[in-house]
Amino acid sequence: MEKKGGIGVEIEHIFPVIKKWLYSDKEIFLREIVSNACDAVTKLCRLISLGDDIARNIPDEGFRVTVSLDKDAKTITVTDNGIGMTEEEVEKYICQIALSGALDFIEKYEGENGGDSGIIGHFGLGFYSAFMVSSTVDVLTRSFTGADPVKWTCTEDGAYVISPCDADEAPDRGTSIVMHISEEGEEYLQSGALREILQKYCAFMPVEIYFEDGEEKEDKKEEETPAPINDTTPLYLKNPSDCTDEEYREFYKNVFHDFREPLFWIHLKADYPLNFRGILYFPRITSEFESLEGQVKLYYNQVFVADNIKEVIPEYLLMLKGVLDCPELPLNVSRSYLQNSGYVSKISSHITKKVADKLTSMFNLDRPAYENIWRDLKTFVEYGCLRDSKFYDKTTSCLLFEKCGGGFCTLDEYLESAKEKHENKIYYAADKVSQAGYISMFEAEGIETLLLDKIIDTQFAQLIESKREGVQFIRVDAELADTMKGEGAAEIPGVAELFKKLVPEQTEIKFEALKDTSVPAVLNVSESSRRMEDMMKMYSAMGQNSPAAFPTQSTLILNTANDLIASLANADPEKAALVSKHIYTLCLLSQRRLNSDELRAFLSDSYSILGML
Ligand code: ADP
Repeated sequence: MEKKGGIGVEIEHIFPVIKKWLYSDKEIFLREIVSNACDAVTKLCRLISLGDDIARNIPDEGFRVTVSLDKDAKTITVTDNGIGMTEEEVEKYICQIALSGALDFIEKYEGENGGDSGIIGHFGLGFYSAFMVSSTVDVLTRSFTGADPVKWTCTEDGAYVISPCDADEAPDRGTSIVMHISEEGEEYLQSGALREILQKYCAFMPVEIYFEDGEEKEDKKEEETPAPINDTTPLYLKNPSDCTDEEYREFYKNVFHDFREPLFWIHLKADYPLNFRGILYFPRITSEFESLEGQVKLYYNQVFVADNIKEVIPEYLLMLKGVLDCPELPLNVSRSYLQNSGYVSKISSHITKKVADKLTSMFNLDRPAYENIWRDLKTFVEYGCLRDSKFYDKTTSCLLFEKCGGGFCTLDEYLESAKEKHENKIYYAADKVSQAGYISMFEAEGIETLLLDKIIDTQFAQLIESKREGVQFIRVDAELADTMKGEGAAEIPGVAELFKKLVPEQTEIKFEALKDTSVPAVLNVSESSRRMEDMMKMYSAMGQNSPAAFPTQSTLILNTANDLIASLANADPEKAALVSKHIYTLCLLSQRRLNSDELRAFLSDSYSILGML
């Protein structure tokens, strides 16, 4: 007998919302319908294993879900050979439970101001999401109990009919959901698009899923032995001790389509109460900026939810690539709820700890290998430290710094070797080439300089200064180490005047007897003043108003131990003026690039000096 119904008053509310509001995430209909199909199979398998009176006679094999596309009929059909439904069950599960689930969802969604920021990946919308892309949906189902098959048909205005189903129309056991695709869903009638969505959302679902696009295969072999589109037992679910390196690499390649080998990986396995699984890969990074674009895929019981959910995964970990399956995660809640949920912060700190443990153990077990990959890791680790002080605390002992002279050291190693000559002062260069003159002055005194040449390095240095009392990072062109200075510096009369004419007003002129007698003068720009200047440059590069400009504090140090400086006082005034200007320009040159006027003057002065021969 045929039964007619309307899904009630609510339907007028729910269908337009499903159709219009969620248009940006329409493709999730396939995830919802296919995961229901997988659930139907899983339920039947559970009954079989429990020895249910009827189910136990069903052989525990050949379970599958088939997604078939019929372009001519404009239908997408998802068929499973799972538990199926009786007529009463259709009424209960489809007409009541699924509907009230969808209503709950819509209510929550509306509560979030209707924006699509509300519910991550629109998780939990369920069966009715099919109406995002369909004008009519048929459910053809035959319960495993052997009850008569039923057909439920519902149109987009919410009117449904339940009728007996022809035996040859219904599956032998299980359910077929036939979606008659409307205009809104036309794009999914393309085989390529459909396959892509299946691979995105269903890649790890626990039941074999086959895709039939109705097209003739050129390769006959492919037709004979179709392969499922999914991996029902993804590597991350296995025990880490049962996985080989080769499997980890293969999984990485398949999931991320990145043919560069990952540097290393961390297999996450947290049991009760957190209960999540995953693998995080450290990708090989080729440039400072590329590294910021990772991909961490979030799954819920093997069902893909979304990429890079920063409410669940600490932001700096999003630079990595990986999969994370969190079956306990309440996903049909708002993002702000997740952000403040204790569960999420526990996941985050667990992962942070695991990543820090892995770094520490690599550092301790094989330092040369760790140093080898440090340049690839560095941006990630420094960024992580800047974002999360717990991560900093856990990784401090294995943070490396590159030395300008080659090799790496930890902060403690550097400070230990600096103890006598320049306690707590860390000298660094931001550019090995343009600051080479300064670097070699430090090296001549046996002082090691570190290379901090990435944008993030300066922020990182400031972080360390705030964490380690007394420690100061000083760029090589900011000041001279005390040990570079000798005894007996005295002002040479008349020389300061020569230079005063050349330098900006705020530049101080000082005399020192430097141990390195070959250098006539050194220009220093104070560390704090330069940092301020850098910050202002950054603000204006970001298009923000920078704080008002202020004079840079710099010091020109004239080396009284240098012959040229010593002889300037008694030289012919014209020559003295030319040579002092040249000395000053050389100081500028070892600190920064000359502008075009400076360079022109520098060349012409050089020719004049050469002409003095
Ligand atoms: P959920 O899957 O979250 O329970 P849905 O709205 O997706 O919510 O589905 C509601 C119910 O309809 C399911 O719990 C299930 O009982 C039933 N159902 C949906 N699809 C199938 C199917 N392919 N086979 C058997 N039962 C199904």
